[in-house]
Amino acid sequence: EQTTKYDEKHRISRDDIVVGRILGEGFFGEVQEGVYKCPSGKRTRVAIKTCKDCSADVKEKFLSEADLMKNLDHPHIVRLIGVIEVDPVWIVMELYEHGELVIVILMCLFICKLGNYLLEQQYILTTAKLTQYCLQICKALAYLEGLNMVHRDIAVRNILVASAECVKLGDFGLSRYVDDQEYYKASVSRLPIKWMAPESINFRRFTSASDVWMFGVCVWEIFSMAQQPFYWLENGQVINQLESGVRLHKPQQCPPPIYGLLTRCWAYEPHSRPTFRDLVLSFSEIHKMELEQ
Ligand code: ADP
Repeated sequence: EQTTKYDEKHRISRDDIVVGRILGEGFFGEVQEGVYKCPSGKRTRVAIKTCKDCSADVKEKFLSEADLMKNLDHPHIVRLIGVIEVDPVWIVMELYEHGELVIVILMCLFICKLGNYLLEQQYILTTAKLTQYCLQICKALAYLEGLNMVHRDIAVRNILVASAECVKLGDFGLSRYVDDQEYYKASVSRLPIKWMAPESINFRRFTSASDVWMFGVCVWEIFSMAQQPFYWLENGQVINQLESGVRLHKPQQCPPPIYGLLTRCWAYEPHSRPTFRDLVLSFSEIHKMELEQ
């Protein structure tokens, strides 16, 4: 009997999965669509992450994402269904068929350009809708903050769309637990510099406060219709700009009260930034006001 880190609930059998088409390319290998037959007999559509390199150390890194996800349970976080630990290793997640938020945003832009009124009505992303997405991600991050978990890769490319009303935070590949008062000191070089807080760039220091900075950048991406933050700079130039006080400008579609929050998320000193708990309250208020308008 193989030793396993996974409880009964997350150990699943390959025989219960039918694999379909390829959805995309992940860091470790292809991500495929599939159908999983639960013990109850119910069938669910799933996304299967595969790992090309089956050496022990790569496999361990690959599975670290599932190790973290197995303890998470939140309506706006990608749900882990289970893991297959025997080669070829698979991570099986709930499928969100609309895919990445970036793609959905770009598709909306494209359809609006086409100028087809009916299509536009179907796909339009209003300011209230974008604010709702931000609020949902903020709630997911407040939940992680409560668990002393830092995500470290909050960006629109890591948000999946479950329905027009619901987005989910995914990609826990860089996430770590941190003890209170402590922080995770990163060693990897695969870091998203343009999304990172100054202390993360300078000292590889990652805390819930640096996640708040990144969340600010992610909100900026959402309201600037998936433009890349600091696309006009090289990675190496970013820290100098941040230290001389330069910040991302207000995207045209971003309501001023939200931009006000973003500038607070981008306070140079980590302790001067709001917490996710604070931000959930502020975003809820703003969202409510937008719906009333
Ligand atoms: P990695 O973190 O290993 O780079 P990603 O999580 O980015 O992999 O997944 C790669 C691609 O697979 C994504 O861009 C997305 O298109 C697709 N994908 C991943 N997870 C899901 C899911 N749960 N539902 C639908 N599509 C998914």
